[in-house]
Amino acid sequence: MQPYSCARDEFQGEASVYLDANESPFNGPFNRYPDPLQNAVKEKIGKIKKIRPQHIFLGNGSDEAIDLVYRAFCEPRIDNVVAIEPTYGMYKVCAAINDVEYRKVLLDEDFQFTAQSLLDATDSHTKVIWLCSPNNPTGNALNRDEIIRLLESFGGIVVLDEAYIDFSSGESFTQILNNFPNLIILQTLSKAWGSAAIRLGMAFASPEIIQVFNKIKYPYNVNLLTQQQALRSLANEKQVIYWKRIILEEREKLILDLSALNMVQHIYPTDANFVLVRVDDANAVYQKLVSEGIIVRNRNTVSLCLGCLRITVGTAEENQRLISELKNIDAAE
Ligand SMILES: *Cc1c(COP(=O)(O)O)cnc(C)c1O
Repeated sequence: MQPYSCARDEFQGEASVYLDANESPFNGPFNRYPDPLQNAVKEKIGKIKKIRPQHIFLGNGSDEAIDLVYRAFCEPRIDNVVAIEPTYGMYKVCAAINDVEYRKVLLDEDFQFTAQSLLDATDSHTKVIWLCSPNNPTGNALNRDEIIRLLESFGGIVVLDEAYIDFSSGESFTQILNNFPNLIILQTLSKAWGSAAIRLGMAFASPEIIQVFNKIKYPYNVNLLTQQQALRSLANEKQVIYWKRIILEEREKLILDLSALNMVQHIYPTDANFVLVRVDDANAVYQKLVSEGIIVRNRNTVSLCLGCLRITVGTAEENQRLISELKNIDAAE
């Protein structure tokens, strides 16, 4: 297919008079179309993550990259994808939107998987396998050896969503991206980078895959305000490292405080900025927290998560408010 060719694709470089794109000459800098390939942002991300820009796709959140994976690799009503279960809900939503069959393979009781169990669910029309590590909503990192085994034995695309990698004690797969031409890694500015509002998601993959994404994306998929704010956020890496340290300290405190509550049956190990907790009556606890203005995520109806609440680590003050409310609920039982 022939991609849309925008004015700024045809001419690259510096000029003093731009009369090529039917833009307004007034109200700079917002009168001009933004860089369709976000080169400045990719340079900066590339330096931080030690990845060359031709291995980077940027989108309107990771959500855009998730949708593009289906549009690029799956034929509606013919192909299918396989995913671990439970996991992030967007993989399934985008499968349905693109009319692609979505096959789930249940994790084990430790929320781990084997490459073989996923391969067993594939057939000749399976184009993509979805992994998420650390996984949402379970919080744990997936077994690294099994991820590698899957990458080596599956002939299609493996997507590894690393939205929470900054909070993990484990290493990112970005450093071994070159070993696996079928690997797509997703990361985001929405979590550790504190920039969910600007909508900037990243996909790291072979240049061949990145070129396919660039071909099928909307020409100006990341707007100028987002590109500018992303550059500001990315210049503040020290701040992010500091935030991360606080969140990890608060996570440990939160786990300690939760473990002292009667209602808490189990706290699952976490490598993310949230904790999955099994409580006596998840729906009741959820509703009582809501009535006090505290919102957690009720995961009670999610596979393997019966009775579970997913709690994001907040500030020390927010976590204390949660714990004191949970103590009240405990005392009233
Ligand atoms: C939060 C989250 C994202 C982030 O999505 P954005 O569209 O980049 O905000 C991606 N994957 C998972 C698993 C998440 O939990």
